Amino acid sequence: MGKIKVVFIDRDGTINVEKDHLFRVEDFELIPHSLEALKMFTERGVRIYIVTNQGGIAKGLYTEAQFHSLTDHMLDAFKAEGVAIERVLYCPHHVEGTIPEYAVDCLCRKPNTKLIEEIIDQEQILPGEAVLIGDKNSDIDAGNKVGMETYLVLTGYGMEHRSETKASFVTDDLFSAARDIFERNH
Ligand SMILES: [Mg+2]
Ligand SMILES: [Zn+2]
Repeated sequence: MGKIKVVFIDRDGTINVEKDHLFRVEDFELIPHSLEALKMFTERGVRIYIVTNQGGIAKGLYTEAQFHSLTDHMLDAFKAEGVAIERVLYCPHHVEGTIPEYAVDCLCRKPNTKLIEEIIDQEQILPGEAVLIGDKNSDIDAGNKVGMETYLVLTGYGMEHRSETKASFVTDDLFSAARDIFERNH
């Protein structure tokens, strides 16, 4: 394995099919081959962090507990397949939220970088040893701000975000991003 030690991956539209304000376990549907991509990272010792904006919590569309239930379901499913996720980092905030405690202009909602920077510090890695993969330019901009290479995938909102993207690379999906990362870093 080469220099990449950590990968930050967006959830909705990157790992699982984008559905507006997803929180029900029965609506959780993996994008084809995203599981293989996650396995590839796990097998090669790359530590996986999922980073997800969950403004639906602030908007009162679902609760933080419901978010955690879905997370538990997802992590159990991944574990059964031999995929290790270090942590799921999430931002429950949104400026236009209706739940006062979450209706703040925070530092953790992507493209802000608080969650990512905390992990970089904790893992004691350089930005060049991490990669970020997401389907929106808010993901890409967060990765770019901290100086890591970024992949825009064309699943989820990727096609809409492609023309304006500042991503280092554009790939069809998470699986092609994973393959490309290993091809360039072996
Ligand atoms: Mg997304
Ligand atoms: Zn936040």
